[in-house]
Amino acid sequence: MNKGKLLVISGFSGVGKGTVVNYLKEHDDNYKISVSVTTRNPRENEIDGMHYHFITNEQFEKMIEENKLLEYAGYVDHYYGTPKEFVERSLDQGNDVILEIETKGALQVKENKPDAILIFILPPSAEELKNRLVGRQTETEKVICERLKKAAEETDNIDKYDYYVLNDEVDKCAQHIENIKNNNPQSLDMDFVNQIKSEVLMFAKGDK
Ligand code: 5GP
Repeated sequence: MNKGKLLVISGFSGVGKGTVVNYLKEHDDNYKISVSVTTRNPRENEIDGMHYHFITNEQFEKMIEENKLLEYAGYVDHYYGTPKEFVERSLDQGNDVILEIETKGALQVKENKPDAILIFILPPSAEELKNRLVGRQTETEKVICERLKKAAEETDNIDKYDYYVLNDEVDKCAQHIENIKNNNPQSLDMDFVNQIKSEVLMFAKGDK
C-alpha cells in the first residue's frame, strides 16, 4: 500500500485554518487530522480529545522526554505539540494526514520528514485578519495583541514554505490545497505574499 501524504498547514491566528481543514476532511474521508497536545486551557466550545488533548506541563514534558512528539513549540505562553504515533500509523495505512500547526513546528516537521508539504494560508489583507480576531470574541484584547505580535514573528518563517494559499472563500482555498496534494499546484503571486507580510508587521507594531 502507498503511504499517505503529510500536509502541514499554517497561517496567522484568525486566518480560518480550522474551517479550511474541517472542509477538507468533510469532502475527502481519506484525510486524518492530527489532534495536538497543548497546555493551554480549553476555549468554551472546545472538547478534549477532539480539538486538542488538553494536558498539564508535566505531562507535556514527559512526552518530550519519551520522544513521543513529532514536533513541538511554545506559542503565547503555552506548549503545543504533535503526537508522533498517530501520524506515523495513519501515513502507513495510506491516509493523508493534516497537521494544523504554527511555523516553528512546521519547519521541524520538514527537517524530520522532507516529503512533508508545507502550506501557508494567507488572509485577503491584514485588516481582515485583525477583524476576524476581534470578531471571534473568545480572546481578550491582550491576547489579540499577543497573537498579532506572534503573527509578525511568524512572517520570518513564511519564506520556507512550499506553497501559499489565499483564504477569501473556504471552498476555493480547500480546492487549491487539494490541487497541491494532487501535484497540480497553482502558485500565489509572491508580491501579494510580501505585501501581506509587511501589512501584518505594521499592524503588530501598531502603525496602522
Ligand atoms: P490556538 O491556541 O489558536 O488553538 O493555536 C495557536 C497556534 O498553535 C496556532 O497557530 C496553531 O496552528 C498552533 N498549533 C496547534 N497545534 C499545534 C502543534 O501541535 N504544534 C505546533 N507547533 N503548533 C500548533
